[in-house]
Amino acid sequence: MSLVREKDGKRLHVKSRLMGESLVSQSFIEGLEISPQQRLFPDVCLVKIGGQSICDRGIKALPGIIKEIAANRETHKMLIVAGGGTRSRHIYAIGLELGMPTGIIAKFGSSISEQNSLMIATLLSPWGGIKIGHDDIVKLPTYFLQGIIPVTHGMPPYDYFAIRPARGRIPVHRTDVGLVLLADLIGSRTVVFVKDEKGLYTDDPKKNPDAEFIRETGAGDLMERNLDDLIIERPCLEIIQNSEVIEKVQIINGLEPGNITRALNGEHVGTMIYKQ
Ligand code: ADP
Ligand code: MG
Repeated sequence: MSLVREKDGKRLHVKSRLMGESLVSQSFIEGLEISPQQRLFPDVCLVKIGGQSICDRGIKALPGIIKEIAANRETHKMLIVAGGGTRSRHIYAIGLELGMPTGIIAKFGSSISEQNSLMIATLLSPWGGIKIGHDDIVKLPTYFLQGIIPVTHGMPPYDYFAIRPARGRIPVHRTDVGLVLLADLIGSRTVVFVKDEKGLYTDDPKKNPDAEFIRETGAGDLMERNLDDLIIERPCLEIIQNSEVIEKVQIINGLEPGNITRALNGEHVGTMIYKQ
């Protein structure tokens, strides 16, 4: 790349297609040809252990799930991602009542999912469980070489910069979004949400007994259906739909023994959401 001096002799540029562009122009971005995104670690399975749905059940749910993850460590490279759950909701409620801005609420969420990642990593430690930070994601291949099961917190690190939603002040990018963003980052082919329901229904099955199970759907179609409630955070759908590397994500019931193993093996046991 050569250096180019502007005609008025003022700015010195490195010659590139982005030279002198604001990077705001829609037509410029649309016309810009870029190389396809690399899949950094396609063989790493991303597994999110739900906060409210799993972690909060404590001894009733976690030991079985830990055992199943440990049993899969020889055959699968797994990055475990922790959700937040009831303690997040507790501090969100108090913070919102006290007028806290979205960035503070998001910070609260980060520390709670970090607590859960510490707990999961500690439970997994006999089998190489280690709590890692977001900065350590690029070290994944080294962890797997050493037989480690890395565990991280799912809350994306927007923290004080969290984007406030149109309504209310609860950050919309929480731990489900964190998992999908990680999937887009590493180009994972296996992305599993471990929750406490079989998968996605037309409505929350805990509140509506007539809710119907949806075995598979496209992310775009699901956005269009605009269901009132979802089993994963709504922005996940747009991120999947815009991703160059995510093919599908699966939501499974981790309370049913064997489901995690089957999902890691690529079996369809819950709801598949595809990029269309
Ligand atoms: P996590 O702790 O894993 O983030 P959440 O409790 O936030 O899980 O979300 C999972 C819950 O979402 C399910 O237990 C279910 O009660 C509820 N839910 C809401 N809408 C739906 C839906 N359309 N289909 C299935 N579950 C739903
Ligand atoms: Mg949730």
